[in-house]
Amino acid sequence: MTLRLPTLFVSHGAPTLILEPDNPAHRLLTTLADAVPARPKAIVVATAHWTTQAPRVGAAEKPSVIHDFYGFPEELFQLDYPAPGDARLAVRVKTLLDAAGLAADLDLGQGLDHGVWVPLRLGWPAADIPVVPLAVQPALGAAHHIALGRALAPLADEGVLILGSGGAVHNLRAWRPGRTEPEVWAKRFDDMLTAAVESGDEATLSALAQTAEGRQSHPTDEHYLPLLVAFGAAGRGATGQTLLRGLIDGSLGLGCYRFVQR
Ligand code: ZN
Repeated sequence: MTLRLPTLFVSHGAPTLILEPDNPAHRLLTTLADAVPARPKAIVVATAHWTTQAPRVGAAEKPSVIHDFYGFPEELFQLDYPAPGDARLAVRVKTLLDAAGLAADLDLGQGLDHGVWVPLRLGWPAADIPVVPLAVQPALGAAHHIALGRALAPLADEGVLILGSGGAVHNLRAWRPGRTEPEVWAKRFDDMLTAAVESGDEATLSALAQTAEGRQSHPTDEHYLPLLVAFGAAGRGATGQTLLRGLIDGSLGLGCYRFVQR
């Protein structure tokens, strides 16, 4: 019998996170394998760094690593994550989404952006678990992403890990490297988010990015939406457990959560 896996949401931080062993999010990501009760058969990653108009699923057999950032240390551009893809699982994801009325396309060329490979390289460094990237659709809102996750819930029963990769608080204009005191709005949003996650409050999770604190914490929604996919994929009535929370650089959220069904 296959163990039902929880789902995860992680804040992947700045690309340099992978070079910062003292960063609390870096440390947490190195323990991801221990946050799930069994080795995943495959990992589906809903990532903030792949945004599309309609649902889209990566189906490459050998997805390339995308160094989708500029102006960072050369060392970062040398990092690889040679995990295999899983075209059969990608087709299954598409089939589940289509059946839920969320018509999805396969993408044979999509690689692994840093929202995918940074957490996975830290969590499963052997790169031997197949990875299927999943796009988010910022124009389609919260309910769409919860539905997207919910359509994929059967996969968790089959030993597939569904991981949302984004940021609990993500406003690059307010990013102040080294600042220790968090912005008031960022702290308030982080508190509200954690409370809603831990109580499984779907209505609040759906509306949170549209509150005043939410608009400041997420001027654009793409780093918030993967959390809703992870929440949805844990099934109706799911609640979250906090693996890590906090803010660095004034406004960069570190929140990482595990969702389980009650
Ligand atoms: Zn990001």
